[in-house]
Amino acid sequence: MYGIAIDVGTSGTRMHAVDLASKKIISTAITMRHPVPGANVMDHLTFCIEVDRTLAHKLLIDTSNKLMNMLDIDLKKVERVAICGNPIQLSMFQNIEVRDLAFVGEKTLRSKGVEHQKRDARVIPASDLGLELPDSAELMIPPAIKHEIGADALAMMYQTGLLDRKENVLVTDYGTNAEMALKVGDEIITGSAAAGPAIEGQHIKAGMLAAPGAISDVNADMDWRCTVLDDAILAQEGDLVNPNTGHAVETGMMHGKAVGITGTGVIAAIAEGLSNNLIKLPHLDTIDGSIHLQDGIVLTEHDVNEATKTFGAMRAGHFTLLEHAGLKFDELDIMYMSGASGTYVDARKAQRVGLLPPSCGQIFQFGNTSLAMALDMVREPQMLDELQALAASIRANHVMFATDKVFEKVFVQELAYWTEGMPMETYNMMLEFADIQPLPTQIKEAKITRTVLRDIPDLGYKGLRVLRDIGIFVRGSFEGCTGCEACLNECPENAIKIHQGGTSGFEIEVASDLCNGTACMRCERICPEKVFRFKELQKSLINK
Ligand code: SF4
Ligand code: SF4
Repeated sequence: MYGIAIDVGTSGTRMHAVDLASKKIISTAITMRHPVPGANVMDHLTFCIEVDRTLAHKLLIDTSNKLMNMLDIDLKKVERVAICGNPIQLSMFQNIEVRDLAFVGEKTLRSKGVEHQKRDARVIPASDLGLELPDSAELMIPPAIKHEIGADALAMMYQTGLLDRKENVLVTDYGTNAEMALKVGDEIITGSAAAGPAIEGQHIKAGMLAAPGAISDVNADMDWRCTVLDDAILAQEGDLVNPNTGHAVETGMMHGKAVGITGTGVIAAIAEGLSNNLIKLPHLDTIDGSIHLQDGIVLTEHDVNEATKTFGAMRAGHFTLLEHAGLKFDELDIMYMSGASGTYVDARKAQRVGLLPPSCGQIFQFGNTSLAMALDMVREPQMLDELQALAASIRANHVMFATDKVFEKVFVQELAYWTEGMPMETYNMMLEFADIQPLPTQIKEAKITRTVLRDIPDLGYKGLRVLRDIGIFVRGSFEGCTGCEACLNECPENAIKIHQGGTSGFEIEVASDLCNGTACMRCERICPEKVFRFKELQKSLINK
């Protein structure tokens, strides 16, 4: 009999098939994107609230069914499934109310008639949600710690062993939605920085998730050596290139195989660019204003701006947790990094660009803790009760960065530092005026321990399959549309196609997995006839 472990992430779904007798992983399947329009959890939340929650649910279930079919097991023999993810992804997966995750404060919730959803551990028939599995197959859903602190945060704390440490520990899941928790004594303070999609390679022209062909690291000397992920998602030596031209000075074993760059590659390129003066904030000081890597992969100034705003949000998040805990930077002992980026990134380069505090003496790099916890639940189903008890026992407080004064003050300095080139002395002076501790300017030489080789440590003996074709096309025809193609040309993700037909003579088609969703809406804004209505597009659904 088989089990399936699922991690529903903001930027993609990952899945393992497990042999329940031997408890061994058989195979792994992943998507490269999320099927719901949007690039972060807020976009997904807005899509559910303003467009169609049931459609978001259907898209996630449809993607899971496609992925399960790639696991190369007899799905009729699946006995149990376990899932993990952040509260918004798990709510979409189960098609439960999400508005309680969107609004801050009890008064606001009451005034909008929104009730808190119970997000405790539960077990339901997997087929109830539309998973194409036998009626007897159970789906195990782990608990949230409390309203805003989801099962993914529980996974991050449980799988890293954070809860057992006596030292002051900061843990961060380096993903699109950067969950972070600071443990000081028995108290835990959590936060979630909308780090933005740059950390997982999206919003970057050549960006992609950690998958075969992704440039995951660069090391600069006179020329730059690229590191590229192979078919088993292991880092291998790529070309040595001239970053001004992309010319390969020396070819590596992954020559000709790079197809994009991950967030970790972007972090590395920016760290090296800053050290080598190819980046003089806020501009790129190269021949054509871009950094060239192997096989034509290019990092533009726009990419660097997108990524550094993310760095600023993450650093402001860490700052905020420390300030709320009354902890000085040099009192922070240990840093845990999880998620794909937290696994693959060169921790020293990440520290150089501010993604982890400069003062921690020990750094541990973990893999995908969400998938690891789902996997443990599949292997040991009784663990669900333990997780429920643990979730109830954790004394955790959540800081909403969106409304937090410390976060706001630090993030303003971060933006000035990265996007205007404000000197660090001025940055710290501004913090002093705001009665916030300064950012240490010296980076401590930390001991780094990499606990896994890749974010999914074991792919199983049948290996990895990548599902690229996800999502749906949403179509609509707008009365008054002239077919001018302004929307098509404006779309940053090439998500729009225009066909002949419909009431106006033109049908607009949007690929849901490519679209940035309600946070973008450039197509609507550019329409000269003011007829483009994104929300009306879902009326006609066509499977990709
Ligand atoms: S322009 Fe429109 S279709 Fe393109 S990404 Fe933005 S919202 Fe999506
Ligand atoms: S921009 Fe407006 S008028 Fe032009 S093709 Fe798109 S929907 Fe039609």
